Amino acid sequence: MINIAIVGSGPSGCYIADLLSKKVAGSQVDIYDRLPTPFGLVRAGVAPDHQGTKNIIRQFERTFSRDNVSFVGNVNIGSDISYQELKDSYDVVAITIGALTDRNLGIPGEDLQGVYGSGEFVAWYNGHPDQSELNPDLNSQGIAIIGNGNVALDIARLLAKTAAEMGSSDITSEAANAIDSAPITDIYMIGRRSPVEASFTNAELSEFADLERCAALVDPAHLVTSLPDTLDPKDVKAIEKNLETLRGYAENSGQDKPVRLHLMFCASPTAVIEADGKVAGLTLEKNTIIDGRAQASGEFFELPVQTIISAIGYRSEPIEGMPFDTTRGIVSNNEGLVEQGVYTSGWCKRGPQGVIPANRADSMAVGKQIIANLEANPPAGNKAGSAAIDELLTARNVQTVSFDQWQVINQAEISRAPEGKPREKFNRIDEMLAQLN
Ligand SMILES: Cc1cc2nc3c(=O)[nH]c(=O)nc-3n(C[C@H](O)[C@H](O)[C@H](O)COP(=O)(O)OP(=O)(O)OC[C@H]3O[C@@H](n4cnc5c(N)ncnc54)[C@H](O)[C@@H]3O)c2cc1C
Repeated sequence: MINIAIVGSGPSGCYIADLLSKKVAGSQVDIYDRLPTPFGLVRAGVAPDHQGTKNIIRQFERTFSRDNVSFVGNVNIGSDISYQELKDSYDVVAITIGALTDRNLGIPGEDLQGVYGSGEFVAWYNGHPDQSELNPDLNSQGIAIIGNGNVALDIARLLAKTAAEMGSSDITSEAANAIDSAPITDIYMIGRRSPVEASFTNAELSEFADLERCAALVDPAHLVTSLPDTLDPKDVKAIEKNLETLRGYAENSGQDKPVRLHLMFCASPTAVIEADGKVAGLTLEKNTIIDGRAQASGEFFELPVQTIISAIGYRSEPIEGMPFDTTRGIVSNNEGLVEQGVYTSGWCKRGPQGVIPANRADSMAVGKQIIANLEANPPAGNKAGSAAIDELLTARNVQTVSFDQWQVINQAEISRAPEGKPREKFNRIDEMLAQLN
């Protein structure tokens, strides 16, 4: 038997598992995850009101239901089982642990109460057990979201929507209630550069056209009329579409709705303003854009905000003994190869960029490399696979969660959902495990 361990059950892990379980004869593929729940950011990152995007789970479920694929949830590689123990037990190890640790803003005051990273904020509203206690301070009229990508737009939209508009989402009730009772009137989404360089996509940007209580606003001065010829022609259409949507928003008065989303460009935060140990505002510096790069202008302004959420990117967490690039915050690798018998794919390999399908292409390429290496150097067949790891987990009193047991948790979440909601997530591991008694 060829024993294959995959660490992380997000899209990149699922895609590799799918390929290897089909193409490697005599393989057993064990997918470990530190959570009792599979699917990584499809469950804990993708916005709760974008249920259609989560349909990819059906495909991943088919992989897990194969006879030679197992889910081993609630096992943290690095603390419950070491990297070395995994390598000793498996012929192939694929590291697909993603990246959800927030990068720092690097400005004074960012440690104050009221400043959150998008990784922790998104995890909170999506019921990730790491953030069940976050309880963010949303007693704010003004909220700044720093970043100009789809994650920033997701957060802005969730803060802007009414409870009714979120009614068919799977946001946790705790987060829904906190947002619903927050006195928000102004959300500022701040990009360092202009709309031309923004990384959000039009589908997400356009969603603000029809929100019940929120109007999107933009300063027309930021809406260029001609694009630089240096742009990649394949990007031009997408940028033009965004500019067209933004031109529509520039006509909004903002007087007719109780909440305004200010789409701000060409500004960088420089300091969080403090009062009584809390956020009392944000100082920003205007930028001039030269050849697509932001250059500080020396001109400052302030925003009256009491909560700040930074959505400026993520890094992976190192696992003891695993080669790790601390500068880039990714698993050290050469085209997916980490060291002999160990591979990586997805966000922890490339950094936190790319939507779900990008991980498929990545995992297919790495998977093909694994297959070629297995054919060139067939394993000696002396690795014990899950038998060795199960023994260690039992000795260490770790309660694992199989795919069938995840289905029990899944059904319990579906059954307890209020009408209209697809599920009410458990956001604590003990609550999830209690469903299995
Ligand atoms: C807020 C947000 C919204 C997004 N929305 C969309 C969208 O609408 N559409 C879209 O296509 N893409 C979206 N994406 C991108 C998409 O989620 C990623 O491309 C994708 O999830 C990356 O897959 P991955 O497998 O590399 O990592 P992940 O999905 O993060 O999976 C990593 C898995 O590894 C596990 N793990 C981590 N450490 C360990 C450990 N030590 N031991 C065991 N297990 C471990 C984690 O629990 C997790 O399950 C979004 C991302 C974010 C952050």
